[in-house]
Formats: sequence, C-alpha cells, structure tokens
Amino acid sequence: MLYDVAVVGSGFSAIAVTINLLRLLPPSTLIAVVGDAPGFGRGTAYRTEFYMHRLNVPAGRMSLFPDKPDDFVEWLAEHMRQVSADGFASRGDYGLYLRDRLASLLRGDERPARVDFVKAKATDCVHCSEAGLVFHLDNGAELRARNVVLCLGIGNADLPLAAGKIDTCVESRIVRNPWRLSWLSKVGPSDTVCILGSGLTMIDQVLALRVHGHRGRFRVLSRRGLLPHAHPPADRRAPAIEPELGCSREISALLAGFRRQVRKGADWRGLMDGLRPVTQKLWQELAKEQRARFLRHGLAWWNVHRHRIAPQISARFEALRRDGIVTVHAGFLETIEEGPRGALVTYRERQSHRPRSFNADWIVNCTGMERAGVAHSPLLREMQRQGLISPDVLGLGLSVDKGSRVLDLNKEPQPGLYTVGALTAGQFWEITAVPDIRVQAQNVASAIASTLRA
Ligand SMILES: Cc1cc2nc3c(=O)[nH]c(=O)nc-3n(C[C@H](O)[C@H](O)[C@H](O)COP(=O)(O)OP(=O)(O)OC[C@H]3O[C@@H](n4cnc5c(N)ncnc54)[C@H](O)[C@@H]3O)c2cc1C
Repeated sequence: MLYDVAVVGSGFSAIAVTINLLRLLPPSTLIAVVGDAPGFGRGTAYRTEFYMHRLNVPAGRMSLFPDKPDDFVEWLAEHMRQVSADGFASRGDYGLYLRDRLASLLRGDERPARVDFVKAKATDCVHCSEAGLVFHLDNGAELRARNVVLCLGIGNADLPLAAGKIDTCVESRIVRNPWRLSWLSKVGPSDTVCILGSGLTMIDQVLALRVHGHRGRFRVLSRRGLLPHAHPPADRRAPAIEPELGCSREISALLAGFRRQVRKGADWRGLMDGLRPVTQKLWQELAKEQRARFLRHGLAWWNVHRHRIAPQISARFEALRRDGIVTVHAGFLETIEEGPRGALVTYRERQSHRPRSFNADWIVNCTGMERAGVAHSPLLREMQRQGLISPDVLGLGLSVDKGSRVLDLNKEPQPGLYTVGALTAGQFWEITAVPDIRVQAQNVASAIASTLRA
C-alpha cells in the first residue's frame, strides 16, 4: 500500500503532526504512524506516572493548538484537575490529554482521514522515485509513503567518560538511560546514588526515587554544578519584557545588552520570557561562529535560566539539599572503579583541580539529551549513508530549511521529507518544547496538505 503520509515516531511531535493532518486532510487520505514506544504520543516526557513529575511550562502555554491556547486548561477543568492556566500540571496528565485529543478526532462525527498505527521501529529508508520513500521496519514489513515526517526526538547522551575509564565490574551499577524507569525499583532504601548531570533530568530522578521510598543520599556531579532556576509563584511572576537586542549579532554584545537591562531593573525571568518569541529569528541571524561560541560558553547558563522548574518542585528539591540528602559537586568525572562500598567515583574538582572521590551504590547518567541526533539513531545513520539526509554543521541534528524540509547530502531539500522537533535545532534552536513544536507541526502538516491538494 502507498500511504499519502507516514509519520515516524511516537512522542509529542508525532501526535501533533498527526492531529494537524487529521484536521486538514480529506477522508480519502491514508496516513501511517510508525512508532515503537508504549503509549503512543506520550514519548519520553509524558509517559511518567509520578504525580510529582510536573510540566516545566505553565498549563496555559501547553495547548496542542496554537490557535486554541486554552485547550489544555479546558481539558484539565473538564477532568477535575485543580490546575489553573499559570499552574504546572503533571506530565502524566498531559500525556492523557494528548491521547484524548487524538482519540476524539478519530472517533468524531466528521469522518477523518484513515490512520494506521504500526507498532514497529523504522530501521532503514530508501528513496524510490515513483513511490516516494520506502521504509524497512523491524517487524520485517516495508512501508511506502509519498510524504514522510521524521519525529524521532533525540537520544539520551552517553556517559561523559571513555569506556576504558570504567571498571567492568561496576557496569551493573550504572544506569545509562534513566528514562527506562524499571531501574528505580532496584535501588535499596538506604543506597547512595550518584547522579551525573545537575539539570531537569536529575531533579526528576531524585523525586521519583523519593516517591519509591528511597531515603539514602544523593551525590550530584556536573561540570559546573549549576542547578535549574525555578519559576516564581504565579502571583510574583514578572510579565515578559522585550529584550533590547541592538544591531550586533555577536554573542558577547547580546549578553552585555541583556545584563545592562537587568542592571537597570528588568527582571531576568521576564527578559528570558520576552526573548522566547524572537529566539528562533535571532538564532537564524547569528553567524555559524557565533552559534558555536554560544554552544561552547553559554549553553550551560542558557539551560538553567531558560528551562526553569515549577515552584513546588524547586521547594521540595531545596529542602532535600538543606537536609544534606542531596549534595552537589562541580567537577570533571575521571573514573568509576570498584570501591570498598560499591563503586568509587573519582572526579577533578572544578575550582581547585584536586582529585576527589566518593562511594556510590548506583551511578545514574542524567547528562541530558544527545545533541548529535544522527549518531543515536540507526535509521538516521542509514539515511545519511545513502545521502538522503545530512547532519547539521554544529552537530545539532539534521540540516533542514526554514520549512523543516530535510536537506540531502548536497544540501538540496528532499521532496516530501520533513522532520519535526529537536532534530531541527540547527535551524531553529528553540524547538524542544511544546509551544514551539506545535507551531512547527502545524506548518509541516499545512505544507503536506497543500502538496497533496495540488
Ligand atoms: C523529562 C522531560 C520533560 C519535559 N517537560 C516538558 C514540559 O514540561 N514542557 C514542554 O514544553 N516540553 C517538555 N519537554 C520537552 C519535550 O522533549 C517535548 O515537549 C516533546 O515531548 C518532544 O517530543 P518528540 O516527539 O519530539 O520526542 P520524543 O518524546 O523523544 O519522542 C520520539 C519518539 O520517536 C520514537 N522513535 C525514535 N526512532 C524511531 C524509529 N526509527 N522508528 C519508530 N519510532 C522511533 C522514540 O521511541 C520516541 O518515542 C520535556 C522533555 C523531557 C525529556
């Protein structure tokens, strides 16, 4: 069978593209959605069952539809959840909302396009002029489609340590992918847990372990020891402030301008929020060297100021720090060896450069998401080998144009091949969260709908 559109992936991007296609395409259209993860549409972020795993964006900005901004808040009210537009709903509830919206479109009065959900992983793809693209799936099937939207997310980052620096006998104590939540039940109540990385993933895992009854210590180690800032409570939240960007597109000049505004009294959180609507345009105006400079020197600071946590999550985490349950170390991981009690983690302290060590029963990799998206995906590696795609120059995913069309090895747009989500960070930078991905999903669905109508 030849599908009009194949959506490959099973997270938010895939569900957002599918829903927009259903809103735009006639009933005669055939859509395939190919995904391997359980709970289609929930992806890594929204399949959690822990109530304390909260969204880090207020509910009023999490609607699936840019043109219906209150949609998620209305769903919360219909389902008796006590969360207002400026509150932070649970991520599990958000996953339910996504599936609900898809289900009601599929079951609605207006006959929608046909959608086949194929539970499989796409392993390979070949171009075939008369039938668009042909995918090979890990269930042995083949799938043909005239248009394809890759919604693959990005993988978990590798441990920040070469294999030779890890004692093989402690391998079983290392959790390389904390999103496979089964590891939580293996941890003993008084075990010491070393978490590598001090961002949002670390906070998620600490709180999840506490819910599981863990009462031991946490040693958090990251290069700078920076922790995400919190959103203030709703009644103390500053309105967005327009940043004075000036004419220079040098990172240092932009930062200096930002600091000047803060010195003159602007709230930095308001400024960060004011920057959001213009971030994509600003990123596109930066020369490659300036983008690279930003990634080298500014990324860690950007992450903690930009990706803030809900106030109630921050309060819980700070209480654990105050009670000495969580200790944060700034330094560079050097080795993980067998120790007198579990594993011995050795690192070089950031300020003093002195070697330091501690024992831990578990080492959990929370260093975040893989940025070089092509490397983590066998499908993308295969597509790169065939010249169908090319990596972004800064290793931020795939080369795409401003319409999210994938560029091939010769930097030419591949007809009918699009990608949505964090794999397009090289073109858009600010494209990891719902408020941005939902706009991109709508644009891609509209582009496909107009080619199918033509
Ligand atoms: C823990 C966490 C919390 C977050 N919280 C928020 C938040 O509060 N608000 C917000 O706006 N954003 C949040 N985000 C950002 C989040 O990444 C986006 O909101 C969104 O979920 C990204 O969805 P995605 O579909 O692009 O990627 P993913 O959710 O990663 O989904 C990609 C899917 O594609 C599948 N896949 C990959 N390769 C193949 C293949 N070859 N064949 C078939 N399927 C494949 C994967 O199995 C996966 O299920 C959070 C992210 C994380 C990780």
